[in-house]
Amino acid sequence: MAVFHGIVQSREQLTPALVRVVLGGPGLDGFVMPEETDAYVNVAIPPAEAPYGPVFDPADVRETYPQELWPVRRRYTVRSWDATHRTITLDFVVHGDSGVAGPWAANVAPGDVLVFQGPGSGYHPDPEADWHLMVGDESALPAIAASLESMASGATVVVRLVCDGPDHEVPLSSPGNLDLQWLHRGGDVDKDGALLADSVVALDFPAGRVHAFVHGEAQEIRLIRRHLLTERGLTRRDMSCSPYWRRSMSDEAWRRVKGEFVAAMEADVA
Ligand SMILES: Cc1cc2nc3c(=O)[nH]c(=O)nc-3n(C[C@H](O)[C@H](O)[C@H](O)COP(=O)(O)OP(=O)(O)OC[C@H]3O[C@@H](n4cnc5c(N)ncnc54)[C@H](O)[C@@H]3O)c2cc1C
Repeated sequence: MAVFHGIVQSREQLTPALVRVVLGGPGLDGFVMPEETDAYVNVAIPPAEAPYGPVFDPADVRETYPQELWPVRRRYTVRSWDATHRTITLDFVVHGDSGVAGPWAANVAPGDVLVFQGPGSGYHPDPEADWHLMVGDESALPAIAASLESMASGATVVVRLVCDGPDHEVPLSSPGNLDLQWLHRGGDVDKDGALLADSVVALDFPAGRVHAFVHGEAQEIRLIRRHLLTERGLTRRDMSCSPYWRRSMSDEAWRRVKGEFVAAMEADVA
């Protein structure tokens, strides 16, 4: 897979928990943005003591150095690609001091370098659908925001997003006709984990065939997916649905059990 590196052009605090990083420079030469609106890149963040970098090939590093010096890998959605200036915009959730990518974004400065591979992608709002449903948390916000911008004029789009409070909301624009609701966590993990699913259960679905995009925390996504497939009659083809991250697990721990989780999620609606 092609390896790119971007030089940080700017860092902007969008909300208390969301940081926008714009990458540019010649290390993006050859980057081709897919048509899909959930395009993502695999970023590679080296440990502070790495004897290589800042530009490196992750495969070479894995061959040359012991595992504790390998870069940490994380996936981030391409919020936007500016073909004229050849810049990539990524929006990072900063969830406290934990993790690697969140703290990287919290502390990054112009001139810093980010190595990444990709892009991968899988979803574009189906223009043939009668209406669209988009559900997610802050990690899915970049893909949902990009998807909203690509909507046909007047398309019906129902959007349910969860965040920590009004100051965590971001403005969203779309040529579509939006029914947008932000849900606010109250600090109780169990209740908060059901907010998105409850909001979908409570929805009066518009008539016709829906195309759904449902991404975010694993347990939350699983509840919604089960509801859509068993009680709303959607088929797997009607939705793009995947667990981006799992509460209380680092991405390494999550990747180790993700296959099992996805198999169990499939079995929910066998
Ligand atoms: C295809 C794809 C696209 C993605 N796009 C984006 C994106 O555009 N922006 C984005 O911010 N994330 C995105 N994610 C999710 C992101 O990759 C994970 O959240 C990742 O685990 C964050 O890495 P970290 O190093 O900050 O934390 P980790 O080291 O993985 O985790 C440390 C701790 O933080 C918790 N944690 C992880 N993510 C969150 C979160 N979002 N909110 C609260 N707690 C969390 C973990 O459960 C763990 O307890 C995407 C994931 C996928 C698969």
